Amino acid sequence: MSGHIDAIRTAILQGAPGAELAALPLPEAVRGALVRAGEQEMFAGVESVDKDPRQSLHIDEFAVPELAPDEVYVAVMASAINFNTVWTSIFEPLPTFGFLKRLGKESQWGARHDLPYHVVGSDAAGVVLRAGSAVRNWKPGDRVTVQCQHVDDQDPTAHDDTMMASNQRIWGFETNFGGLAEIAVVKANQLMPKPEHLTWEESAVSGLCNSTSYRMIVSKNGAGMQQGDSVLVWGASGGIGAYAVQYVLNGGGTPVAVCSSEKRAELLRAMGCEAVIDRRAENFRFWSDEQTQDPKEWLRLGKKIRELIGRDVDIVFEHPGRQTMGASVFVARRGGLIITCAATSGFMIEYDNRYLWMNLKTLKGCHFANYREAWEANRLVCEGKIHPTMSRVYDLDHTADAALAVHRNESEGKLAVRVLAHEEGLGVLNEELRAKHLDQITLFRRFENA
Ligand code: NAP
Repeated sequence: MSGHIDAIRTAILQGAPGAELAALPLPEAVRGALVRAGEQEMFAGVESVDKDPRQSLHIDEFAVPELAPDEVYVAVMASAINFNTVWTSIFEPLPTFGFLKRLGKESQWGARHDLPYHVVGSDAAGVVLRAGSAVRNWKPGDRVTVQCQHVDDQDPTAHDDTMMASNQRIWGFETNFGGLAEIAVVKANQLMPKPEHLTWEESAVSGLCNSTSYRMIVSKNGAGMQQGDSVLVWGASGGIGAYAVQYVLNGGGTPVAVCSSEKRAELLRAMGCEAVIDRRAENFRFWSDEQTQDPKEWLRLGKKIRELIGRDVDIVFEHPGRQTMGASVFVARRGGLIITCAATSGFMIEYDNRYLWMNLKTLKGCHFANYREAWEANRLVCEGKIHPTMSRVYDLDHTADAALAVHRNESEGKLAVRVLAHEEGLGVLNEELRAKHLDQITLFRRFENA
């Protein structure tokens, strides 16, 4: 670690005031997790499941870029793994260098991103080190989390729902200089207050997944769930699923939580889910071969849901994609909604359209969250109404191991990565609120360590 970064870390850990942090010299280069353009063909011919992020995701030094007027440097205390870092590291469905090239053509500041390396990461918790000349609401010393929506707010398409902006991007996936680095470059309007009852690593895991699930379940831009609604949540103990479950429970709904092991089923029951389906134990075979789905298996899932909650689900929280979409469209109630934000198992989707139109169902696309939704989702974390789902903590040097665990579906909830925080458990200022919710805050970690 360079002397400058070491001094910054020490000052933050000692609670130095903003003016003192602002006076510390910045390093010219810092360490971060990056993929290299020269290696984007390295997995040619390799099956998706066998592509190993440990070969492609490197911890290396990169030059800290100049700061745009509307940006801040954040000293990253902790970050997290999202599935998009898995996608970047296995160069699927596309290498992310094309995104950086396009951004590079947009403006003088965009050009900084078009580099032969891509510093990844779409979550962070840390401290503002410097603020650009046009930043008004944030200053050095502010303790922050980051939401990953990168939008040019001078574009009129961004003015209603910022997710509708034609140049909307996901920071650290479609932009460079993301959160898995000692210093991240962040637009000021991505900043949100750090939940002060959480540690650095607990604060870092929620931004992307929590905001996504908020929009999908709560927002009128998503499902707009009502009290009493029932929601089938695929991957309910996973990154977005475990936040979706919390929103359904908080909003007076009934989750039907799907997972693939007894350990996960137990975790979901501990979260408060009464209706849990272990898809592996039930041995659902929605596809009888690569080309053919088996509607009898959709029916079997539908019967299981009725057995558990006595009726069909109002909403399906869908993201596995190809493997499950046929079943999802089938099991939603007449007039129900299937909301989808992803396609982990394949994006060429097939379902029987008769069940959609004859039963007046809606299939709706959803992606991340607009500024307001991300802010509200973070506020709920700050108030102790939504809890982080952190199960494991890695250090920056082991980022690729964490990405591999997510790629192989070996972990529950969220995986945090310590960056400047040299040990777990630092950064809590509100001990009283923490004590009140300690069981829920540490639930996933305790299950992992049990
Ligand atoms: P994750 O932590 O890996 O969780 C995904 C869960 O899906 C797993 O826990 C697994 O649960 C379940 N799953 C995996 N394959 C499945 C299959 N074939 N059939 C049924 N269930 C399956 O990932 P995540 O962070 O929740 O992200 C999930 C997907 O959403 C990813 O593709 C990610 O890129 C995407 N995403 C999109 C956005 C957006 O803004 N559009 C935001 C966040 C994430 P069980 O094995 O226990 O059933």
